Amino acid sequence: MKKLVLACSLFALAGASAEILRGQPTAPPPAAAVADANLPIPPAARASDHFDVLAATNAYLASVPPEKRARSDAYFEGGYWWILWDFLMAATIYLLLLATGWSFRMRSLAERITRRRPLQTLIYWVQFLVVTSVLSFPLTYYEGFVREHKYGLATQTFGPWLSDQLKGLAVGAILGGLFVMGIYGVLRRAPRNWWILGSLVTIVFLMFAAMIAPVYIAPLFNKYTKLDDARVRDPILSLARANGIPATEVYLVDASKQSTRVSANVSGFLGTERITLNDNLLNRSTLPEIQAVMGHEMGHYVLNHVYKGILFFAVLTVLGFAFVRWAFGRVLAGWGRSWGVRGIDDVAGLPLFALLIAVFFFVLTPVTNTLIRVQEYEADIFGLNAAQEPDGEALVDLKLGDYRKLDPGPVEEFIFFDHPSGRTRIDAAMRWKAEHLGARSLKEAR
Ligand SMILES: [Zn+2]
Repeated sequence: MKKLVLACSLFALAGASAEILRGQPTAPPPAAAVADANLPIPPAARASDHFDVLAATNAYLASVPPEKRARSDAYFEGGYWWILWDFLMAATIYLLLLATGWSFRMRSLAERITRRRPLQTLIYWVQFLVVTSVLSFPLTYYEGFVREHKYGLATQTFGPWLSDQLKGLAVGAILGGLFVMGIYGVLRRAPRNWWILGSLVTIVFLMFAAMIAPVYIAPLFNKYTKLDDARVRDPILSLARANGIPATEVYLVDASKQSTRVSANVSGFLGTERITLNDNLLNRSTLPEIQAVMGHEMGHYVLNHVYKGILFFAVLTVLGFAFVRWAFGRVLAGWGRSWGVRGIDDVAGLPLFALLIAVFFFVLTPVTNTLIRVQEYEADIFGLNAAQEPDGEALVDLKLGDYRKLDPGPVEEFIFFDHPSGRTRIDAAMRWKAEHLGARSLKEAR
């Protein structure tokens, strides 16, 4: 009963939000039916007695102009190679630091400055971070700035972009510094069991970072405000209450400062959890689309994806550290002397540690992508059930197609996609729609 009322009010709000979002704060249109005209549903995807899931999915995908599709395919497929280039770049820099003796010189400098081991580790870390950032800068600049502009995804000029990079470096120096001090503390005290204790330190640190991120880190880069437009906020909060989420606020982030990407997320941990909508989504979408996205985000929350994600990562960390423990000694036996690295507890060996971790995660790319993608699909299904906006979902999936290939092959999706592809998501939405046709909760008009 309540659901029906909610659905009707959402329906009315769709038109209103589109108005507000175009920057014309006019009164909501009186007729609920106005909303329907605002959802550009392809004919083959409209409700009918011969509704076909595949035909509806294909019709949505076909509504994207071919040149636009070609562009986003090129952008996303280019990203596959960037996984490789980024890995090779990092590996080259780490080996360079070891082979040229820079790494042990940075450690010797740290040892001359202080006798305190943790501080030596920190001083080494800051040098390491600065040197690796400077050496990889040309690639970072091309990948993160030039290429993003080339595909029309970036909105920043060089100055603000560089400023964000420097802020990221400062955060990396502080948070990374704390983490590395912790890990090397463990390496010195437990040379045999460090990989288990180190995993524990990693997970605790990860939880700490997840907890402080929305409050102390994200605001360094963007402005977060409470969404105060009741016509958009209230239906979102109603959806939250209906799904047992004790939210009293929805946050809005000015993501358009950096990018044109449509997005939303759930962040935080142990009390700092929040749902954030980005302004690109708000400005480019109707309420049914926003509700579909919010249903998805609430799915992450209700299904405890943050906790499960940390658990997945804990398992990977134990395996990764076990691999480092096995490989480090072997590599060091061959080259340790010429690199000036005394042992695994010597911070001068950090580039080798980082290299082995990079190898591990590079090889596991399809595994980590799949772990995340499975959760994203779960959130999609939750969102469809919660928001009951299959067409809103399909339309937003097309907008996500600005930067994610819409219709890849199955193997390609398995290896490279950390979210389901547009086809997979629209197919799920149309399947949901097909199974609910005739049900009273679905708007008959569509
Ligand atoms: Zn998600």
